[in-house]
Amino acid sequence: MRARRVALFGGTFDPPHRGHVAALVAAARTGRFDRIEVVVAGDPYYKGPGVAPAELRLAMARAAFEGLALVEVSDREIVRRGPSYSVDTVRELLADADAVDLVVGADLATQLDGWHEAEALRELVEVGVVPRPGAAAVVPAGWRGYVIEMEPVDLSSTFIRELASAERLEDFLPADVIPLYVGSRG
Ligand code: ATP
Repeated sequence: MRARRVALFGGTFDPPHRGHVAALVAAARTGRFDRIEVVVAGDPYYKGPGVAPAELRLAMARAAFEGLALVEVSDREIVRRGPSYSVDTVRELLADADAVDLVVGADLATQLDGWHEAEALRELVEVGVVPRPGAAAVVPAGWRGYVIEMEPVDLSSTFIRELASAERLEDFLPADVIPLYVGSRG
């Protein structure tokens, strides 16, 4: 069935953490969406080398997010060849939806003007900005959008990757992600 409004929440998810979960729960609670599509980035061209394999990040994202209200985890950017851009994913989603909102953390909201085909993207989407410590939760100038209400969660994948031990992982990662994450790090 054709969706009225889909939220697109993209990320590297290396690994997916409780900040992502909180963002997805908050997005679902807005009541704006029929569906929230979590799109796992395939090509790490913007993060450089050292990113975990896409198949592992996809498996961790499924473990983390499937079961959350309205959420589906997609491999569409993994199976697409070459660099993957949000604007292309938005166009794909619009084939099957009346509207697509781009849900991003406040850190990314400030960077949207630098994204591939930013001008086209600006015409195509509304932006749902999720609060995140360290960045003001505001809709960037020139974009249509709104701020999603959420208690900010001070957590990043970088912080988790840099942890010296696996001891406190349950504070930061959904339980089902931990065996996949720990297993991948040998
Ligand atoms: P890294 O530390 O590797 O850069 P990250 O924690 O920022 O990773 P990503 O997978 O790059 O995670 O982020 C995917 C999306 O989730 C982005 O829109 C990002 O802004 C958002 N996000 C990540 N962490 C949080 C958080 N703690 N609160 C709100 N949004 C977040």
